[in-house]
Amino acid sequence: MLLERERRQRIITMEAQRGWRTMNRTRLVSQLHQLGVRPGSVLIVHSSYRAIRPVEGGPSEVIEALLEAVGHDGTLVMPSMTDWSDDEVFDPNVTPCLGMGIIADTFWRRPGVLRSDSPHSFAAYGPHAEEITAPHPPDIPHGPDSPVGRVYDLDGDILLLGVDHRANTTIHLAEFLAGVPYRVPKHCTVLQNGVPVRVDYGEIDHCCQNFTLVGEWLEKHGLERRGQVGNALCRLVSSRALVETVVRELKSDPFRFLCRPGTGCATCDEAWRSVEVVS
Ligand SMILES: [Zn+2]
Repeated sequence: MLLERERRQRIITMEAQRGWRTMNRTRLVSQLHQLGVRPGSVLIVHSSYRAIRPVEGGPSEVIEALLEAVGHDGTLVMPSMTDWSDDEVFDPNVTPCLGMGIIADTFWRRPGVLRSDSPHSFAAYGPHAEEITAPHPPDIPHGPDSPVGRVYDLDGDILLLGVDHRANTTIHLAEFLAGVPYRVPKHCTVLQNGVPVRVDYGEIDHCCQNFTLVGEWLEKHGLERRGQVGNALCRLVSSRALVETVVRELKSDPFRFLCRPGTGCATCDEAWRSVEVVS
């Protein structure tokens, strides 16, 4: 078996051959401040380590850099949701964060980080962590009474670290506030007083591929900052500016994000069917 150190060295050599520069915490903090990350702010981070690497110290060091960039008065927030089976109990103490990247799955496990109690959970650290991760109802998973809704209330920012708007959960909050007419029936299993309970709920859900439009809308109005962090192109936008922009666009066409019916997108077809049920 290859030693872990040798394996790491091979990866670093491969990355260097591709022209990627190895980053350290100091460099990352400087890049984050240059992009506009504000000390004392509430910051949601969606990330891809693969896009920003190599970083000395790996994903944990990226988290340290983010904490340093927002400072002691800042609150760092990351998705910690799971694609766990709907029939398996979600337990915020043990259920892994899946599909959100290694930085997010490392963050919720850190001592002192709080995690909301929904399969659509977010984790947070800092002065507003308790408020952001307060009881998180499964129904309308990313509505006003959810971590992304609370970050919106707190006038927080959203940082996309090597990912685009398809990873930006706050857009679902905007869809809810705009009153989009699709709501897919779902269920999940959560612990209530230590007992597994099935909860049925509706989710504003689809393939999210058209969320890339949001970058264009924000750019048109000069509301998104873009810059390099690590080796990736990153974006920073205020939650309120994002929500206001998306709500305005959806008011003129509430179906902007859905693929056209019958064009081969099963997830969006399900969203279209939910409209027929509601209407
Ligand atoms: Zn679709």
